[in-house]
Amino acid sequence: MLEDKDRIFTNLYGLQDPGLEAAKKRGAWNGTAAFMALGDDWIVTQIKESGLRGRGGAGFPTGLKWSFMPKEIGERPHYLVVNADESEPGTCKDRDLMRHDPHLLIEGCLIASFAMRANACYIYLRGEYIDERIALQKAIDEAYAAKLIGKNACGSGYDFDLYLHHGAGAYICGEETALLESLEGKKGQPRLKPPFPANAGLYGCPTTVNNVESIAVTPTILRRGSGWFSSFGRPGNAGTKVFCISGHVNTPCNVEEEMSIPLKTLIERHAGGVVGGWDNLKAIIPGGSSVPCLPRDICDDVLMDFDALKEHKSGLGTAAVIVMDQSTDMVRAITRLAYFYKHESCGQCTPCREGTGWMWRVLTRMCEGKADMAEIDMLLDVSQEIEGHTICALGDAAAWPVQGLIRHFRHEIEDKINTYRADKSVHAMAAE
Ligand code: SF4
Repeated sequence: MLEDKDRIFTNLYGLQDPGLEAAKKRGAWNGTAAFMALGDDWIVTQIKESGLRGRGGAGFPTGLKWSFMPKEIGERPHYLVVNADESEPGTCKDRDLMRHDPHLLIEGCLIASFAMRANACYIYLRGEYIDERIALQKAIDEAYAAKLIGKNACGSGYDFDLYLHHGAGAYICGEETALLESLEGKKGQPRLKPPFPANAGLYGCPTTVNNVESIAVTPTILRRGSGWFSSFGRPGNAGTKVFCISGHVNTPCNVEEEMSIPLKTLIERHAGGVVGGWDNLKAIIPGGSSVPCLPRDICDDVLMDFDALKEHKSGLGTAAVIVMDQSTDMVRAITRLAYFYKHESCGQCTPCREGTGWMWRVLTRMCEGKADMAEIDMLLDVSQEIEGHTICALGDAAAWPVQGLIRHFRHEIEDKINTYRADKSVHAMAAE
């Protein structure tokens, strides 16, 4: 269990003042200029050695991503863009970080930007996050007033500007290239890659896009050392992580814990257990709505990290744990998610634009049992045709929940079809 002394986000629940003076007392802005004096390469090496993997869903090594930026500033400026468009259903961790610990994020923006030779950083905030915008802007203003950012940030001799950009509330703008399009004032539609943002990102300039949590943990990693951070979790899955636990649990919550904690322990220790007890559990979506669900027998002993969940054909994603007890109609639950992805498709690629709607319509019929048994395999086939055949990962995000449903709960679809058929024949006999 992660001890209080090892928590990065010591004001996760907003019990203390999020303002600058209180944040400094908790350790923020301690030694920032000294770290910068050690140089950009030193910072990138520390983050690489910490084993930090991106906390926004994909889990790409953060230090390695930073090292993709050009070593020298050419004719084009460099940018850091922080993805605060947190829109994955079940995910609500960045919201609390921005409301209650905004100075860790702002300090992280300065350090990460310096490491990538960027003099400007944009935080792209989800449209619905009004309170977070107010809290974050207040903290940014405080940091400017205290000369922690701006000209000669922290007395380091480095000039750094930080801008908060409020989106309009579209899920697809959480995809990094759609986010950049939106930031440029265009329609938020993903770009074809390559070129990747490190070569041609914001305004065609070298850009790195990182998640809020990935950036907010970096100052503490530098303060406490890469070895401290990598001591948590299994090899390749280092660090602490903010988990969001929702659904059929007694006390839904966000909690910072060690990576690789057993899923069952996470829920029983921090979320008061499953409603009605662990035996009442039916399934868990372990990483936000886009990853495949897991049935109870896997949940019994699976570990919460990138590799363990991948072995079970699911994923850590955003570490948003959605718990469903025995009362859940799995077909209806996944149909609701299918509707979400159909609604959020930007429509650029045919497999996603047409496929998400097709899957939702078939699933909607299946909810009532109005389908042929052969359509279950057809649905699986179509999901596999969408997966990996689209410009961005929304196609995969729409396909995976459906695949998880068929892999683990095919019997629930079959039961609905059989029940509908039986009812129909009873009615037919009655009519005769
Ligand atoms: Fe748009 Fe979907 Fe294609 Fe992504 S996969 S670019 S959301 S149509």
